[in-house]
Amino acid sequence: MFLKRIELQGFKSFADKTIINFDSEVVGIVGPNGCGKSNITDALRWALGEQSVKSLRGEKMSDVIFNGTDTRKPVNVAEVTLVLDNSKHYLHVDYEEVEITRRLHRNTGEGEYFINKTPCRLKDVKDLIMDTGLGKDSLSIISQGTVSNFVESKPEERRGLFEEAAGVSKYKKRKNESLGKLNRTQENLDRLEDILLELERQVNPLKRQAKKAALYLEKKKELETIEISVLVDEIETLTQKIDELKKEAFELESKKAIHETTIGVGEAKNLDLKKEMSQLDQEINKLQESFVSVMNDIQRLEASKTEIDEKRKYALQTATNEDKLKEIKAMLEEVTYEYEDRQKRVSDLKVSLASKQEKDRLLLEELNKQRDSFREESAYLNRLKNRSSVLENLVSSPFNHQQGVQTIMNAKDSFMGILGVVSLVLKPHDSYEQAISSAIAGAMYHIVCEDEMSARHAITYLKKNQSGRATFLPLSVCRERVLNKEHQIICENMNGYLGVASEFVDCDPIYQILNSYLLGNVLVCDTLANANELAKALRYKYKIVTMDGETVNRDGSMSGGRSKSQSSPMTLKKELKDVRDQIEKRQFTVNELDTKVASLNSKRETISSEIVQLQIDLATLTPIVDAKKSKMDSLRVQYEELAPKGEVIEISHEDTLISQLSDAYKKRDEITSQIKIKRERRMKAGTESERIDMQIRQIRRETNVLNTQQKDVEVEMAKAEANLENALNRLSTHYEMTYEFARTQRIDQDTAEAKKRVLELRNEIAALGNINLEAPSQYEEVSSRYEFLTHQKEDLVNAKNKILEAIDEMDEIMIKQFKESFDAINAQLNDEFRKLFGGGRASLKLVDPDDILNTGIDIDVQPPGKNIQNLTLLSGGEKSLVAICVLFSILRSSVMPLCVFDEVEAALDTANVERFAKYISHFKDGSQFIVVTHRPGTMEQCDALYGVTMKQKGVSSLLRVQLNEALDYIDEKGGQ
Ligand code: ATP
Ligand code: MG
Repeated sequence: MFLKRIELQGFKSFADKTIINFDSEVVGIVGPNGCGKSNITDALRWALGEQSVKSLRGEKMSDVIFNGTDTRKPVNVAEVTLVLDNSKHYLHVDYEEVEITRRLHRNTGEGEYFINKTPCRLKDVKDLIMDTGLGKDSLSIISQGTVSNFVESKPEERRGLFEEAAGVSKYKKRKNESLGKLNRTQENLDRLEDILLELERQVNPLKRQAKKAALYLEKKKELETIEISVLVDEIETLTQKIDELKKEAFELESKKAIHETTIGVGEAKNLDLKKEMSQLDQEINKLQESFVSVMNDIQRLEASKTEIDEKRKYALQTATNEDKLKEIKAMLEEVTYEYEDRQKRVSDLKVSLASKQEKDRLLLEELNKQRDSFREESAYLNRLKNRSSVLENLVSSPFNHQQGVQTIMNAKDSFMGILGVVSLVLKPHDSYEQAISSAIAGAMYHIVCEDEMSARHAITYLKKNQSGRATFLPLSVCRERVLNKEHQIICENMNGYLGVASEFVDCDPIYQILNSYLLGNVLVCDTLANANELAKALRYKYKIVTMDGETVNRDGSMSGGRSKSQSSPMTLKKELKDVRDQIEKRQFTVNELDTKVASLNSKRETISSEIVQLQIDLATLTPIVDAKKSKMDSLRVQYEELAPKGEVIEISHEDTLISQLSDAYKKRDEITSQIKIKRERRMKAGTESERIDMQIRQIRRETNVLNTQQKDVEVEMAKAEANLENALNRLSTHYEMTYEFARTQRIDQDTAEAKKRVLELRNEIAALGNINLEAPSQYEEVSSRYEFLTHQKEDLVNAKNKILEAIDEMDEIMIKQFKESFDAINAQLNDEFRKLFGGGRASLKLVDPDDILNTGIDIDVQPPGKNIQNLTLLSGGEKSLVAICVLFSILRSSVMPLCVFDEVEAALDTANVERFAKYISHFKDGSQFIVVTHRPGTMEQCDALYGVTMKQKGVSSLLRVQLNEALDYIDEKGGQ
């Protein structure tokens, strides 16, 4: 038996557990109306997975659970188990016996399925019974009142029955699954194609962008390499140019200064000269007046003299010897006077000349002395000026020799938290510079920063750029340092103690902690000796510095002394101030000396012209003296010839006219000489003044030129400095490089060409427009995704083709199997029809023979002697018979392990019931029949009969009955 057993519990009217064992091939189920027979067929279909509530005669699924009666409570669970014999492997599983169970819980509405007590899905149950003829569409389980459905349904609806009979359901299901798969594959494919299309849209622009980005990077790299070198060249050239311009500016400035001094000196000299000139003019005027008056005197005296001389001439020609002698004597007296007078004047001139010469010698000596001092002082002044410019440079860039410090401070604004350098943020009080410098010592060039992170950042920068080293002092690590109270008392009682170093420093409040950290425990003393005493008293617990910068260290070691280059940034300013003070003083001295030298020179000039005049006078007088002498001598001879022998000539010196005349001439000569000297002097002064005026004008013109040059230089310098700053900025902001590092990256190139190339590249880069730097990686990503998806698409297309192939194969099998099965059934049908109808004919027809897979199925029947056009015109019994004919044809042509009929023969007449029942009972081909019936004809043909009763009202129960007992049921109910 295929169906060995049904177990029901809580299902519809079967409230109690009921087991029906089937041991005969044809089993009848009998019982009065409403006793629960049909519930058994419902149970069968339900256990096999029936989902249609309507076909189970309910409104909702829970209607299948026993609902209770007047005397019994409803139950909560319905359960039906079918036990199937699988020794013939109708079911495609290895088990010999298969148990199918379905259970439903009222409360949760939860349904459960089990195959061989193992929970499973509905689908598993359906798969299990597929193609066994137990399916939904088969005729193997015909519910009450549905037998005529077959005839009444549409050709397309009938098709399922034949598919079930042909055993193609599993292929159909598989095909459906494959179609589902195909559908999903196609959907995936469509989606994939959409994505691919979208990617295609992206990939080309991205490819272009990536190419552009690569080109951009290439050009940028080239630009960078070239531009860095160009910038380095530019910076080098500009620095050199700025140096040269500075030098030029300095030279121009010095030239201007010299010019100004020269003009100043010239103007002062001119002023002196003008004064002298007017003085001389006055003196000359006076002298000329005197000259006129003396000339008048001379004229008058000469007239008297001429008168006397006339008289004397006459007397000499006419007079006696005695008178002649008298006259000669008078003449002799005159000439003697004149001779002596001139003689005296010569000797006076000589004295005066000697004195002037002596004076000149002294002046020269003094001049040489002053000149030497001038030279010495000037040289010293120059040295001071040099030192001053060196110091100025140091003050303006104090970290020239600390490359690391310089680098960081130059780029200070690009760093976070870099504040300054110790030597600049702490400002010592006046005259404490040396002391504080020594106290700070090694920390002088430490860079003050906010915290350790900012220091790390800056150090990384120095390392990357190879720009030297620097020490950093984060404010966050600075702690306050103070002098212990006890030590303070000791200090205050010591000689020469001035205080704690930190007290002598001014600083911004934020650096107060730094000040205390570096200097809070350093003491300041006046002298080294006192410092030693203090150190001893404090047991060398503190570092002590003196005002001169000597140090007594905590280990007792001492340092001091002085070197040329010991200046620290702190002492620089003071030193510069000192040097500038000195320059001022020395300049004054030098100017004074210069004036002195100039005045000595002018004095010497005056004296030398006087000397020359004296020499001229002397030279003029000498022949006059000689002439007077010879005249005197000749007169003396004449006198002695005339005078008696032995008479001594006595010369009177009291000739007033002659002496007056001599005095007048002397005066005239003196005046003339004076005038000459003064005129010469006046002339010289005039020329000199004019020369100086001209020189001043010339210098002023030159100064104007210098001014223009200076302005040009300033403009040039500003331009060069701006360019330099630009270049440095570009290096640091664009390439994050210091100049020093950039120099190491320099390549050999022609600067002019490189500059041209830089411009070209910049234009080319600008022409590229917007650049998507992500493009290469995006392109890479998109194109690899595209490739991947293309592969996937190929895979999907392959899968699709395989599915299509499989579907084709299945279609072929289905067509073949369907057709074979259909033909076989058709071949049987006419026979079966003729048997049941006692004549006539019947056949099946494919509505569309060209579409075996979908075609509906028509039935063409002609009962004996009738001409039926339409199946609906058949009677109820005829309809049942046609369905039964088809069922029997199916049974003949293929194996159906189980048939369950619920009153299918109800509408047949007795003769036909008999035929029907006989057919079943004689159909020994391994099929099992379970028939619910009221018809004795059927009952008689059954191998075994079960009676369903409701001993307890509303609750079905079952028992095996004999034929007569079964017939009794009918009688009781008064049936046929
Ligand atoms: P007939 O010979 O008239 O076809 P039958 O023996 O086939 O009658 P069934 O249709 O099997 O009768 O049984 C119907 C009976 O089952 C009804 O009386 C109904 O009350 C009962 N029944 C149906 N569902 C339930 C349920 N959930 N709980 C209790 N009883 C139920
Ligand atoms: Mg019934």
